[in-house]
Amino acid sequence: MGRNYCNGDDLILIVDDDPTLRMMARTTLEKSGFRVEEAEDGEQALRKFIQHQPSVIMLDVEMPKLNGYETCKRIREDAIGAHIPVLITTGLEDIESLNHAFSAGATDFLPKPIDWALIPHRVRHILRANRTYYELRTSEAKNNALLNAMPDTLFVIRRNGDIVNFLAGNEAASLPEPRGDQLNIKDYLPDNVARYWFNCMQKVISQGSAQQSEFSLDHDNQQNHYELQMVPYLNDLTLAIVREITNRKRSEEEVHRLAYFDMLTGLPNRQLFRQQLADAIEFASQNGTKVAALYVDLDNFKRINDTLGHSFGDVVLKTIANRLDNCIRADDCITRADTEEPGMRLARLGGDEFVVLLQDLESEEEAVAVAERIRTELTQPVEHLGHEFVVTSSIGVSLYPRDGDNIDTLLKNADVAMYQAKNAGRNSVRFYSGTMSLRSLERLELENGLRYAIQRNELKVHYQPKIDLGSGEFAGVEALLRWHHPEHGNIPPSDFIPMAEECGLISLLGEWVLRNACQQVKTWQDLYKRRINVAVNVSSQQFFNTDFADAVLREIFDTGLDPCNLQLELTETILMNDVKETIATLNKLKKAGISLAMDDFGTGYSSLSYLNRLPVDTLKIDRLFVMDLETNRENAAICAAIIAMAHALDLKVVAEGVETEGQKNYLRNQRCDQIQGFLISKPLPPETLANAFLSNAKNPALIRNT
Ligand code: C2E
Ligand code: MG
Ligand code: MG
Repeated sequence: MGRNYCNGDDLILIVDDDPTLRMMARTTLEKSGFRVEEAEDGEQALRKFIQHQPSVIMLDVEMPKLNGYETCKRIREDAIGAHIPVLITTGLEDIESLNHAFSAGATDFLPKPIDWALIPHRVRHILRANRTYYELRTSEAKNNALLNAMPDTLFVIRRNGDIVNFLAGNEAASLPEPRGDQLNIKDYLPDNVARYWFNCMQKVISQGSAQQSEFSLDHDNQQNHYELQMVPYLNDLTLAIVREITNRKRSEEEVHRLAYFDMLTGLPNRQLFRQQLADAIEFASQNGTKVAALYVDLDNFKRINDTLGHSFGDVVLKTIANRLDNCIRADDCITRADTEEPGMRLARLGGDEFVVLLQDLESEEEAVAVAERIRTELTQPVEHLGHEFVVTSSIGVSLYPRDGDNIDTLLKNADVAMYQAKNAGRNSVRFYSGTMSLRSLERLELENGLRYAIQRNELKVHYQPKIDLGSGEFAGVEALLRWHHPEHGNIPPSDFIPMAEECGLISLLGEWVLRNACQQVKTWQDLYKRRINVAVNVSSQQFFNTDFADAVLREIFDTGLDPCNLQLELTETILMNDVKETIATLNKLKKAGISLAMDDFGTGYSSLSYLNRLPVDTLKIDRLFVMDLETNRENAAICAAIIAMAHALDLKVVAEGVETEGQKNYLRNQRCDQIQGFLISKPLPPETLANAFLSNAKNPALIRNT
């Protein structure tokens, strides 16, 4: 490593104005294996030193032009010359001239007259010393560069804790240099950390091997994290290497947060919940206790999102998350007996689905109580920007070990129970009972099937005729969607329409039906040269889509159907929601010439009061009231009242589900305008309907119960 300064091949520059002395020097040195260059004055010496870069310079003091001191000074000013040993040869041995020589940068001096026998030894010695010095210098420079580049802070510590040496690392949150009153780690570090260091040091000393660990320090209201490595040093000394790892820790935490927590609500996500549930099952199996999984799904949340926007939806979700959290915190009576762990945990599984875990239960009743409390708590209105909304929930509960002994089964069964709660009219709690799982599986399968039903040509529109009670003539048709599933056969719309609403497919289906019906009716009109009215059902989800009215008008325009021949059948949920936008949408459709009917009247809110505020033309009395008209006097009276009130409001009335002559006669007597039902015909495929009603419109009574 580096240059060898003592290999006999070194070049010595002799500077002296005395040729005899130069010759003597050359002879002696060459004999000892050195190479020699000569200069006879200072100026020549400067040139030669640059040209040859000698290993040692022997320099006379008294010379013409530039004396020895001056020459030495100039050599030292040069980067190469700074470290070349310079031997000053002088006859002046007084202290002053020696001082003069050293302050000019001389390495050593040789008194004249020169002892020639000593010269080679002297030169060799000086070369060796210079080599050691050079190596030290480079090694120190290297060390300094290394230490400066290192993020680590180093401490050399005596067994009693005294800090013997300190070298700061270059990280922002590195440990500071110990002050004068902190020269023992007891004074330098907080008590608990100092104790920790002592323990580590003890191990290093007793085991003679390195120890690695981590510690943290509070600083300016934040926590900095450090990695500590202790290694044995000399004697009773230990070297502590401290690296700041706060950023690494933070990003580890961040990764953990991203992986295990839900961004919107800050609650644990499905992943973390599964771990917690697994732990709870394990604990319960060892202790013979129970675990409950409560699947909480918000009712109609999709509608909130669709009508009021996603940011409002987010507010609702956060509010609900908070409430659930409070519900759980409030309950401090359920705490695991042997730990400080809370007995309940909450997570968001995604969308509007939350799940609550009850651990270490003794009885099912505890789960019932919690589920009911959550359900009740969630019925409190959510307030936002001065509006109040009620968001109810459906809760399904499954229990370990009764309803399953593993995570997946428990979650699946809680989900199944939740669907039962939904089917039971929402805002309710249901426990899992084994028979449900098959249905939910089918349901999933169907939901997927529905996504492809349009593409696979499994959907059809059927048409059910309406008859004018006054004239007995054909009055139009209602378009009703049919799904023929390749495996399950015909699936009734009462099954798949709500499903389509829940999984967001309803708008797609609704538009498909509308386009089909408009095209079909337009084709019939052109073929039979007569006006035919068609009514199309609209789901509330579809209606609250922002561009519903535009979508309808587009279909009308595209198919070329006269808007006057189209009627939209709306549900009460749409019309009850008399916010400005609803009325604006209705007016837009109305203005285009489309007529509006309220479907299934009497089953929902049954309030006539809002009808006169809305641009509705027709009321359809639900089959429920028509069904037992002849035997149930109350329903007969309701039908009569609805017809009378509707007429008072200038609305047309259609009675649905008319199956008997008796019903038809009663309705005619009450001046009901139109009827629809199996008495006239079931919903029919378009070809059958055309044959039966359009080419033979004068004689509808011939077609019954096809
Ligand atoms: P809805 O609009 O009230 O349609 C009338 C339902 O009563 C139809 O059932 C029809 O087949 C049935 N019905 C008609 N007359 C009689 C009768 O005399 N006796 C009996 N027992 N039933 C009769 P369907 O076709 O099963 O449709 C059920 C519901 O599904 C419809 O009720 C409607 O709300 C919905 N639906 C059907 N097609 C569509 C559609 O394209 N879009 C939307 N959003 N909903 C649809
Ligand atoms: Mg209808
Ligand atoms: Mg109806």
